[in-house]
Order: sequence, then C-alpha cells, then structure tokens
Amino acid sequence: MVALHHLTCHDSGRETQLNVPFLDLRSQYLTIRDEVRAALDAVCESQHFILGQRVTALEQEIARYCGTRYAVGVSSGTDALLSALMALGIGPGDEVITTPYTFFATSGSIVRVGARPVFVDIDPVSLNLEPSQVEDRVTPKTKVLLPVHLFGRCAEMEPLLSLAARHHLAIIEDAAQAIGAETDDGQRAGGIGTLGCLSFYPTKNLGAFGDGGMVLTNDPKLTDLLRSLRQHGSEGQYDHPRVGGNFRLDELQAAVLLVKLRSLDRWTEARQARASRYNDAFRSLGFEGPDGLTLPEIPKTARHVFNQYVLRTSRRNELARFLSSRGISTAIYYPKPLHLQECFAFLGHKEADFPEAERAAREALALPVYPELTEEMHTYVIEGVGAFFQTR
Ligand SMILES: *Cc1c(COP(=O)(O)O)cnc(C)c1O
Repeated sequence: MVALHHLTCHDSGRETQLNVPFLDLRSQYLTIRDEVRAALDAVCESQHFILGQRVTALEQEIARYCGTRYAVGVSSGTDALLSALMALGIGPGDEVITTPYTFFATSGSIVRVGARPVFVDIDPVSLNLEPSQVEDRVTPKTKVLLPVHLFGRCAEMEPLLSLAARHHLAIIEDAAQAIGAETDDGQRAGGIGTLGCLSFYPTKNLGAFGDGGMVLTNDPKLTDLLRSLRQHGSEGQYDHPRVGGNFRLDELQAAVLLVKLRSLDRWTEARQARASRYNDAFRSLGFEGPDGLTLPEIPKTARHVFNQYVLRTSRRNELARFLSSRGISTAIYYPKPLHLQECFAFLGHKEADFPEAERAAREALALPVYPELTEEMHTYVIEGVGAFFQTR
C-alpha cells in the first residue's frame, strides 16, 4: 500500500469540500447549446413533430453506428423491448431467458406481453448473464434469449448465439446502456442478435431531452412489423392487421440526438479514461481484496462504454454514506434483483435462488464517470474512497 499523506489533509478539515454530482447533464448541454437550440428551433419552425425527416435521418445514422441494416425509432427503451417482443410474436405460454440483475424494464416487458421471464444467474466479473447456465433452462417453451449489456459492457454473445442457433431461438439484446459497446470481435451492441434495443433516456450515453428508444435489426420483415407496431399495428392509414401501440419517436428528440451523436465517441472515450484512472488509482492504493474493493474489469479487446463505473465492496452502504458526507454522490444499481420483486412473486422465487445477482445487489456502487467530471472532482472522489478504506 502506498502512503496517503495527501489524503489526510482532508480528514484534518479541507475548507474546500467539493460537491460532486452523480451526473451533470447541464455541463454537457452547455458544450452543445447553440447547435441543439438551432436544431430544436428548426423543428418548431417546421411544426412537424412526429416521425419526420429527423427521425428517419437518426434511424439511418444509428443503424450505421451500430452496424445494422435497419433501425426503428420508438418512444423509449422500454417500448423498444416491448415492440421487439411483439414483433417476434412472443406471448402467453412462451418463455424468455434473461438476467435478474438489470433495470426493471427488461423483465417487465416480458411479463407485459404475457410471457414468462426465466432467470439465469450472472457472471460475477462481467455482471452479465452467465452463458454456461443458460442451456439448462431451455425448454420447449423457450422462444427468446434476452441478454443485457449491463453498464456498457457486452454480454458474452458467442455461446448465446450458438445456443440460439441449435435451439432455433431468437435473441433480443437489451443494449439500453451500451450504445457503441463492442464484443471481443468488434461486433456492436444491439447489432448482434435478431433485434437490439436502445434507450435514449437522458442518463444513457446518448441521451435525449426526454424519452426515446430504437430497435435495431438486419431483418427487413421485422423492420416493417416494428414500423407497423409503433403506429397501432396499422398498414396504410386505417387498416390494422394487428394490434400495436403508440411507440413513436418525435422530431424534437431526434433533432437533439442527431446533434449529440456527433460527440458520442468523444464522450465515450472520456468515460473510458475516467474508468481507467479510477482503476489505476484504486489498484495503486492497494485496497483490492475480500474486505476491500473489487474493481470493474476493463476488457482488453472488447469496447466497454462505461454507462456506469461500478465497483464492489461488502461495505457498500457505509462507503456510500461516507462519500455522501463529503459531498460525493453515488448510485446503487440495482439494490433489489428482479426475481425478488413483489410483482414477480408469481414466478415463485426466493432468496438464494440467484446468489451472484443477490451479492451484486448488496455490493455494487456506481461512482460518477460522466465526461464532464473534472479532473479536480475525479481526484476528490478517488481521495474520498481512499480515505474510507484507510481510516476504517
Ligand atoms: C434504461 C433501461 C431500459 C429502459 O429504457 P427507458 O428508455 O428508460 O424506457 C431498459 N433496460 C435497461 C438495461 C436500461 O438501463
């Protein structure tokens, strides 16, 4: 362990306690304000608000960015998942294999179409679906594998792809947190399975000024179906061969996203730089270990886009309180795994069913990692974590 002289000055009362927000969207806005305002103004002048030229342009650009032939803009990441399941005709009697350690929408969407989520535990390093446990859960009712690229790191897709091919299953990727993430062999999140789902919720790496999402695919038939589903299942104006919903993306969101997309790679690199600096700093402080920290692995070849920088410690709640007392905001993703949610009690799960997901839910803590986090704030967070492990 290295000496921590520079940390002790805080303990003896540094007057300048910094305030480090968990996310600072306003700072990002200020860097693109003029362009965004001009783009919004152009939509206001056109008074064309729903599914216009900007949505079409965004669909083309996102498809190119993610390496798919098609993209269909929808109203949120949740509606991307819902319409993807609907496009595949998933419903009552069907099973969808997924992870219990994710945002609620992943399983919520499965239950909303009447299908049954079948959970598989996570790999403790990647925090993504443990592929070796998936095959055991495949039954004649299984229709879809639904991996999540959690926190911006791609799930291990190779074994899932071969399993899907052997059992004739579709794959829906929940890439809500992972736009631009890549597997070891350079495939982009959302462009690997049958369908990929993106979210443009403001906290995602490409965030709108409201809700938005997109479904990615290489399949022209599914693309047509998704376009129909987002407009109440219509074909032509008043013919409805199927029931869909209002899953439309609007022009104001597309206008903002077209501007922001130009900065996405730069922002992603800034996230990656902050994540590596955290890892290097915490490693050199020597706090890794069973009673200390477990750092997120930075894959050597795959591209992790760090929507969240999540470390683990058995003293998570204590650490979060300590940092908060120093003005540092953190977040817990996710304190309660989905198999233990009240609304999924009908699945009949109990504690200890998915031990790795439950342990992650107890230990995970997300630190600020956004591109606008200044070097001074970054250092302050590192010192805060250092002070916690040094003094206790
Ligand atoms: C954000 C998110 C969603 C839902 O996206 P919304 O745009 O908020 O509806 C789904 N899955 C995961 C993993 C997410 O992080």
